[in-house]
Amino acid sequence: MKVAHEEIVDIKIHDTQMRENLKSAMHTLQKNRLRVIDEKFNDWQGLRFKAKQAKNSALSSLYDRLLEFEKNASKNGIKVHWANSDINACEIIYNLMIEKKISKILKGKSMASEEIGLNHYLEAKGVKAIETDLGELILQLNNETPVHIVVPAIHKNRYEVGKIFKEKLGANLENEPEKLNAIARKHLRSEFEGLKMGLSGVNFAMSKEGAFWLIENEGNGRMCTTACDIHVALCGIEKVMESFEDAATMVSLLTPSATGQFIPTYNNIISSPRKEGELDGPKEVHIILFDHNRSKMLNDKDYYEALRCIRCGACMNFCPVYDKIGGHTYQSVYPGPIGEVISPNLFGMKENGDILSFCSLCGRCSEVCPVKIPLADLIRKLRAAKIGQGSFGDINPNKTEAIAFKAFEKIATSPKIWNLTISNLHKFNWLLQKGKKSLPLIKKWSVYRNLPQVKYDIYEELEKIQGVSCE
Ligand code: SF4
Repeated sequence: MKVAHEEIVDIKIHDTQMRENLKSAMHTLQKNRLRVIDEKFNDWQGLRFKAKQAKNSALSSLYDRLLEFEKNASKNGIKVHWANSDINACEIIYNLMIEKKISKILKGKSMASEEIGLNHYLEAKGVKAIETDLGELILQLNNETPVHIVVPAIHKNRYEVGKIFKEKLGANLENEPEKLNAIARKHLRSEFEGLKMGLSGVNFAMSKEGAFWLIENEGNGRMCTTACDIHVALCGIEKVMESFEDAATMVSLLTPSATGQFIPTYNNIISSPRKEGELDGPKEVHIILFDHNRSKMLNDKDYYEALRCIRCGACMNFCPVYDKIGGHTYQSVYPGPIGEVISPNLFGMKENGDILSFCSLCGRCSEVCPVKIPLADLIRKLRAAKIGQGSFGDINPNKTEAIAFKAFEKIATSPKIWNLTISNLHKFNWLLQKGKKSLPLIKKWSVYRNLPQVKYDIYEELEKIQGVSCE
């Protein structure tokens, strides 16, 4: 069950260990990304542009792309399933397990499976899904959800992981990464023995080739896709691209943006089940193409842009808010800037609209997004939708918020009133302190804020420097 966002922000912002862990991890990811772009790419901006065009072209002909993928994948011997909703997708997997008399599946990392709530669904039906990605395994053992779409347990340091392994797996208390890896490997090897069904996500599906591409760094994904009799892949419909060449453009951007690596450690391109005479590979390959409100986004003239997302996580890594509050605060499978855009679209504004207020609209996310999604603009549009401007599915506009924003609009669009207000704001701090005792809205707003003193001459200086009139 979700708790009020201000409550969880309050808890997380005081979690100094988590903030320390995130700060250090984000710093490394940022540094690595910048280094690899600088050292290995001549025309990073050109590549971003090419990727945006390729993805837009696939999205604008998505219906045809999907049918072409189904035709060619079926020809290759891959069984294609269609799911409208998250529940439909879970049912397909469960029914396959029942049909094949399987009570346990092993999963590679898949945000799609998190999105459809697969683990909980299967658990409620009395069967199991076991995580094999190291980060996901740590979280499953500790009964937690991912905090990040690429590095799900990035909020934990090695000492914390060592404690979890000791407590849940009965291992010796270790904190060296090699030793922790060895514990996880030993545990997972025993799970992989006799594996019947493996589940994976999909990074890109190629309609011309009828194949799909999965990248990973640990090798567990390859175990899930090749060491089993049956491989099931979960694929959001927006992952279907026209050709292998287009998908390769995306992969060139994805790994540097995600972890700062030039290329991924493992590339798995799956084009068919095991053929006659081949010694390994699954006997059956299934792919589930699921919608879950993506078609609705595709039909919106702005939100469709978020369907270009390749789930690299760079927008989170560079967000000045994310590393202060962590991914759990968003209470959605998709946190950070991209989460603020797709969570209200996929899961509903009513449940997810509050996270829109986490954004400072600094625009850093839009700058680093490899596929040029205008995240800050989309967040601003969703904020307007939340207070009843524009059309959006399930909103119940908050009237007080709408009035407050109307008043703000009046002030912010008149330079004279704006200058006058901003230079006198600090004089009202006493009123804020008084009001927060009786007015809950003011109390919420003022927990981490006060009214700053801004000198009017700043604007005069700006006018001089920029030659721009503030009038
Ligand atoms: S929105 Fe852009 S930066 Fe964020 S995860 Fe998606 S592709 Fe990466």
